[in-house]
Amino acid sequence: MKILVINCGSSSLKYQLMDMDNEYALAKGIVERIGIEGSILTQKVEGREKYIIKVPMETHKNAIKLVLEALVDETNGVIKSMDEIGAVGHRVVHGGEFYSESVIIDEKVMENIKACVKLAPLHNPANIIGIEACKELMPTTPMVVVFDTAFHQTMPKEAYVYAIPYELYTESSIRRYGFHGTSHKYVASKAAEMLGKDIKDLKIITCHLGNGASITAIKDGKSIETSMGFTPLEGVPMGTRSGNIDPAIVIYMMQELNMSFEEVNDLLNKKSGILGVSGVSSDFRDVEDAADNQGNARAQLALKIFYSQVRKFIGSYAVTMGGVDCIVFTAGLGENSPETREAVCEGLEFIGVKLDKVKNKCRSKAEYLSEAGTKVQVLVIPTEEELMIARDTKTLVS
Ligand code: AMP
Repeated sequence: MKILVINCGSSSLKYQLMDMDNEYALAKGIVERIGIEGSILTQKVEGREKYIIKVPMETHKNAIKLVLEALVDETNGVIKSMDEIGAVGHRVVHGGEFYSESVIIDEKVMENIKACVKLAPLHNPANIIGIEACKELMPTTPMVVVFDTAFHQTMPKEAYVYAIPYELYTESSIRRYGFHGTSHKYVASKAAEMLGKDIKDLKIITCHLGNGASITAIKDGKSIETSMGFTPLEGVPMGTRSGNIDPAIVIYMMQELNMSFEEVNDLLNKKSGILGVSGVSSDFRDVEDAADNQGNARAQLALKIFYSQVRKFIGSYAVTMGGVDCIVFTAGLGENSPETREAVCEGLEFIGVKLDKVKNKCRSKAEYLSEAGTKVQVLVIPTEEELMIARDTKTLVS
């Protein structure tokens, strides 16, 4: 069965066509600048030149139509007809408390995704537009939705209820939801596979460190704590997001610095984190370069703050689980930055973490990073969110 995976953003759309008989990505692509001048589709097929189409794409429907055309294109495509696509799997960021698993899309599901728009105003609307466009273009193809929040629905109440008036949870749905669930779930199950153990017998801490970053504690194969919260702003500092700060800073900025709600929102989501402290960039590569090669003190400080916050979460999750067997690094930074992994693991020897510095040099491939005989296994595992979405889709439609 061939499954099309769609990850729709507000002005971009990533896609993969997976052949699920051998879990192979037949084509991967991205459409950028939807609704903006300069729309472009780039499709990659292994062993071939990139296929690039530059045509105006005003809506997501135009973009998805072009994706389908690119996939069936006589010279650059990978399938003969759209009928070969057995199902479509959509990534949706927020499923609220409605979903702890992926589901087949029907009217009720669409209603629930729409009800979650207020919880993810930047993400769910784009996801909905993507689903609706696909439904119009492929009315008879079954569609599945995979939620970023679903994996974390197993957290116990003490992990997801904030210490604010309880009615804010019961009446306004304010609670910790957690994100990157598909990634945490995938790397945890892959870690169990690499260690040759049943996931239920492992205490795993997964560190998804990319532009957005979150850490999760996984016990008995279930998420029991995660660092992102009501929104993806909570937790460790990120490229442009502040992560945890004293909530009174928000009040102070509005009251004493006369900042508006929009300014505070913009500052915490887009001007903080690594960018805010370093003043250099939100991209860790640039900040590492400024810190290491230019002696930039603010870049060095930004990285130190990041490493120490990630380390703090690892320590606290080891306490929550009563120990840790395995720490997994994934996503752009986790997979590609030996410096980050080494700095985060420094000082964790007392809980049994000892990184092999030679093995740690690896990038972009699954690898065991611990010194032989150490108690805690440190692994790097490239995340495969699209594969997870395709697997769930296949299971549900089969
Ligand atoms: P993601 O959001 O998972 O795509 O991760 C993107 C982030 O990963 C970028 O902003 C970079 O900061 C970081 N990244 C990617 N490759 C490297 C690398 N080779 N060294 C350091 N950081 C990297």
